[in-house]
Amino acid sequence: MANKEGILLVLSGPSGAGKGTICKSLLREAEIQYSISATTRSPRTGEKDGREYFFLTKEDFENKIKEDALLEWAKVYDNYYGTPKKFVEDMLLDGKDCILEIDPQGAHKVRTNKPDGVLVFIAPPSMHELENRITNRGTENLLEIEKRLSCAKEEMLCMHNYDYVVINDQVEVATEKIKAILVAEKCRVQRNKACYL
Ligand code: 5GP
Repeated sequence: MANKEGILLVLSGPSGAGKGTICKSLLREAEIQYSISATTRSPRTGEKDGREYFFLTKEDFENKIKEDALLEWAKVYDNYYGTPKKFVEDMLLDGKDCILEIDPQGAHKVRTNKPDGVLVFIAPPSMHELENRITNRGTENLLEIEKRLSCAKEEMLCMHNYDYVVINDQVEVATEKIKAILVAEKCRVQRNKACYL
C-alpha cells in the first residue's frame, strides 16, 4: 500500500476569535504537528525564538520569500508572517498531520499553493464578544487594538473561502469539532483511493 500523505489543517479567522487557544488545545489532544511560523515582529515577554516563532529580521524574511522557502506569507499589522515550507512538506510526506495557525490572507494562499489543505474558519460567538476579546487581552496598545478591530470585521467576510466554520464558544467543544473534521477528512475517497491502486 502507498503511504498516505498527512493532512494539512489550517486554522484561521479574525484576530480575537481564539484560534491560538484552540490550536494549543488540539496539540494537547490530537496527534498533529505544529508548524512554527517565521515573523519579523518583536518577541513579546516570555516568547522564545524557535518556540512561538522564528523571529527574523526584515531582510532575512525577504530572502526567504526570494528563495521560495515559504508555503505562504502575509503582511499582518505591518509585520511579515510566514510558514516555512520544508517542515510542512516533510511532515506531510511522512504521513503526519500538520497544523497551521495563520491569518486569512495566508489561508487564502494555502488554498492556491496546497489545494488539498483543509481550511477551518474559527469564528467568535458574536461580533460583540470579538471586540471584548481584542480589547481585553492586554498584549496590544490602543492603536494596535483599533487596527485589529477594523481588520477583524473585514476578515469575518472571508468565511465563504473556507471548508468548515467552527464557532469558538467553548474551547473544548470547538476542539472536539475540529478532531471530528480531521476524522472525516481522513475518510475522504480522494485521500484513500491511491492506497488500493
Ligand atoms: P501575533 O502577532 O498575535 O502572534 O499574530 C498575529 C496574526 O498573525 C495572527 O492572526 C496569526 O494567526 C497570524 N500568523 C501567525 N503566523 C502566521 C503565518 O505563518 N502566516 C500568516 N499568514 N499569518 C500568521
